[in-house]
Amino acid sequence: MSQSNGIVTPGRIADVVIVGGGTAGWMAAAALSRFFDDGKRTITLVESDQIGTVGVGEATIPPIRNFNAMLDISENEFLRETRGTFKLGIEFVDWGRIGDRYFHPFGDYGHDFHGIQFHQLFLRQLALGSADIGDIADYSMSSVAAALGRFGRPSAQAKTPISEISYAFHFDAGLYAAFLRKLAERQGTVRKEGQIVRAHRNGESGDVSAIELADGTCIEGDLFIDCSGFRGLLIEEELETGYDDWSHWLPVDRAIAVPTSNIASPDPFTRSTARPAGWQWRIPLQHRVGNGHVFCSQYMDEDEARDILLANLEGQPLAEPRTIRFKTGMRRKAWSHNVVSLGLSSGFIEPLESTSIHMIQNGIARLFALFPDKPISSLERDEYNRGMRDVYEDVRDFIILHYKATQRGDTDFWRYVRDMAVPDSLTRKMELWRLHGRVFRENAELFAQPSWIAVMLGQNIAPESHDPIADTLDERKVAEAMKQMRETYRSTAQQLPSQEDFLRRAGAWH
Ligand code: FAD
Repeated sequence: MSQSNGIVTPGRIADVVIVGGGTAGWMAAAALSRFFDDGKRTITLVESDQIGTVGVGEATIPPIRNFNAMLDISENEFLRETRGTFKLGIEFVDWGRIGDRYFHPFGDYGHDFHGIQFHQLFLRQLALGSADIGDIADYSMSSVAAALGRFGRPSAQAKTPISEISYAFHFDAGLYAAFLRKLAERQGTVRKEGQIVRAHRNGESGDVSAIELADGTCIEGDLFIDCSGFRGLLIEEELETGYDDWSHWLPVDRAIAVPTSNIASPDPFTRSTARPAGWQWRIPLQHRVGNGHVFCSQYMDEDEARDILLANLEGQPLAEPRTIRFKTGMRRKAWSHNVVSLGLSSGFIEPLESTSIHMIQNGIARLFALFPDKPISSLERDEYNRGMRDVYEDVRDFIILHYKATQRGDTDFWRYVRDMAVPDSLTRKMELWRLHGRVFRENAELFAQPSWIAVMLGQNIAPESHDPIADTLDERKVAEAMKQMRETYRSTAQQLPSQEDFLRRAGAWH
């Protein structure tokens, strides 16, 4: 506390130390340094080239655009520098049953009619036998464009079907960190290279007061942002905060990653193909394709997982396959004492819906909303932890849905996830859907209604009935309007350029 004119004001946080320079560290540095320009605060980031970064994390979800916009990043420059591509959603192959294929698009399905939700009208068509379950894809602009390999950037001004496209990016994680580093350093972040060997604590409060590097240098701080990756150097190794393990619901625990050469113009979507004990990702960038096989070590050994990956690649491998181990779950407190963990140090939900970078962004936004003074208020810290838990648990349930909603029973792994008990919060959602196709976005849930609809229908869960309110509209008129909607989406998409042409014309191709 400081005192002036008899008024006691809390002390300001002056020195922020970021531990780690992966995606999390540099996102935090770029965001914090953007706003700390009063010359009264310092931001120091420590990273170790010897330790390196996790080196994966190349697919994102649409809110990343808000993060880039907050930093005034030019989208075309960012795409060029990170060899990035557009992502309109994820294609899921063999998830519901072997041979199935569905698309989880970004953005909405169709338009509501007289306040009646579009998907209820679609479900009525299903019940009447005038649509097939997979036809839902025809009512999403992002999905129709993706199927044709096309892309168009929505414009806030022009009210055309293109404005219904919602998109995110694929990018090279190393190049993204380098891009943010340049930005953060320009904004005043000081980077220090070195290996952190220990933390110093304040005897009274237990707060971290400094970190010590291998060469003996000590870096003091008021607030520490732990971005040290899975090990959680401060949040776990020093503060022993604890971890909630969710692997009984999300049992995959290994990934083998390998980049390959591009054999075709990049698709504007991620592909996730189910495998006997997990799934394989395919993320097309401008200059290469990122591939990885995520699997459960309880059901498959590493050699078999590597063989499956190598047998299912399209281009030539550009590096040796690399194994990464993880455990799905979250830190019991993302913020403990004066240490806020971001990125893998705060938790990890397996990468099926590419949510991890978003969790970093969400943590940064929450930290801005609750930026502390000294001493740190435990009320505000608890609020941060409550909010992070909510967002983690919501995402967890959505990811579990993909496994629970399978009809596959061809391997022990698929039988386990199909038959496992799931959190009550998810059971309630699935039952509400099964009854009348109802799905509600709760709290500030990340995945909105269309995402749940995409996965439930994509994995063949048709509700027993639709909302009775949908029957109040004239069937013939609705069918005509839906036909027109489909045709408009298709003809609009056909006029769009391929994503490569779009990137080249925009000057966004490297
Ligand atoms: P890291 O990249 O591990 O960085 C840790 C940093 O801490 C490094 O700079 C390291 O040098 C430093 N450090 C550690 N210890 C010390 C020390 N003692 N001294 C000094 N420095 C130290 N996310 C997505 O959003 N989309 C995806 O598609 C996606 N796919 C993924 C696939 C897999 C298989 C995995 C495992 C993760 C994936 N993720 C994905 C998550 C994503 O990779 C991470 O969220 C992101 O890379 C952030 O990592 P990080 O910065 O927290 O950790």
